[in-house]
Amino acid sequence: MNFVETVRNAGIIGAGGAGFPAYVKMQSRPDTLICNAAECEPLLYTDYYVIQNNIENIVRGILLAKEQLGAERAVFAIKKKRQSLFPSIEKAIRDAGGGIELFALGDYYPAGDEQSLVHDVTGRIVPQNGIPIQVNVVVNNVLTLLQIWNAIENNVPVTERYVSVVGRVKHPYVAVVPVGTPFSKLKELAEPEPGTVLIEGGVMMGRIANENDTVTKTTGALVFLEAENPAVREKTASFQSVTRFSKAACCQCTECTVLCPRFNLGHDIEPHMIMRTLNYGLDATSAVAQAAYLCCQCGVCSMFACPFGLSPKRVFADFRARLKEYTLPAAAHTAEPFNNARKLPGKRLKARLNILDIDVKPEFIGPLPYSGPFNIMIKQHIGAAAQPAVKTGDRVAPGQILSNVRENELGTPVHSPTAGVVTEITEKFITIGSES
Ligand code: SF4
Ligand code: SF4
Repeated sequence: MNFVETVRNAGIIGAGGAGFPAYVKMQSRPDTLICNAAECEPLLYTDYYVIQNNIENIVRGILLAKEQLGAERAVFAIKKKRQSLFPSIEKAIRDAGGGIELFALGDYYPAGDEQSLVHDVTGRIVPQNGIPIQVNVVVNNVLTLLQIWNAIENNVPVTERYVSVVGRVKHPYVAVVPVGTPFSKLKELAEPEPGTVLIEGGVMMGRIANENDTVTKTTGALVFLEAENPAVREKTASFQSVTRFSKAACCQCTECTVLCPRFNLGHDIEPHMIMRTLNYGLDATSAVAQAAYLCCQCGVCSMFACPFGLSPKRVFADFRARLKEYTLPAAAHTAEPFNNARKLPGKRLKARLNILDIDVKPEFIGPLPYSGPFNIMIKQHIGAAAQPAVKTGDRVAPGQILSNVRENELGTPVHSPTAGVVTEITEKFITIGSES
């Protein structure tokens, strides 16, 4: 099996949350590979512990990917505030014979956004509605590169991942968690404060989740926050109230546009203009509305910039759901002159989100003590629909394929995290129970 087939068969998808199949990127020919270890969402230590515990193998993964891609340059991009990790990263690179640059990013949000990262590291601007390979760059999350090493060197598929469990909890921790573990089990160990709300992913870009949901290959964190927290209010507000408040309160001050990271890269997105379009019932297919395709949903406009807590982010999401396709021509971009000065410092964001008091380093506890049953999502990647490859009553081995896509379709298989028996298959899940 060649490199690309091995990465595909190991079920590797973007571990940073995107879920894009990694084998596709491994077929391109960039000049630069960036290992994304920015971890820009507040409170998370997922990448931190991935690096602390696996740095030699991550470096091997970067070098394997660099060789596969034929890239001239490989960059390990990580925030300067993680400098306690720098000596071990530098040593691992030296021990592996070099060939990787350590790049220290500022502590701003969203430093890990692919397009901001590409600009910081290379000075290039990804075209709007485009992807990094259009400027000869491939970006992979640090855990994805570790998984690539594990697939190529050991033929091990993805069946577990590092997860931060943080926020208003008694015991914040990071653990290695099998895919399919219910969130309720992670919650039990963390002991959240009563009345808190569960967010899967980061405070800024995560979604409100249910404790019966289960860990997937893209679950990097569970965050528990009080219901009154601005991030929770932004995510839970009905769209009706979002539009009502927009119409009543938006004064067109343009603060949301001034701080929008995509606007500052020179893309044709102006959040205050989408508010105007909404408030005056203007043409929903106009160039202004097409900017819905350019919004990365980072939440800077709604959770930091707007003095009234209005949400251009939610409005863009709504327009995006209604627009059929992006029709504007590709354009050359120049970053705004004040791009650097407008980057949002991590500490100011945490202060605005009222989470400075819970910004603590969680403990690493190793493998989560849980043995099943596991509820495993049949499709975890961006791409084609997946079909079960097992049936109820089948005995499965650890690492056995549970679901897959057809050979010529975009997607990857999902593997069993354990030995057990398939006890149920629904439209979305395969449940694996114990063998006895
Ligand atoms: S920051 Fe708020 S009030 Fe100002 S233009 Fe944007 S949405 Fe309107
Ligand atoms: S969420 Fe807001 S700040 Fe972020 S890209 Fe979209 S419009 Fe810009």
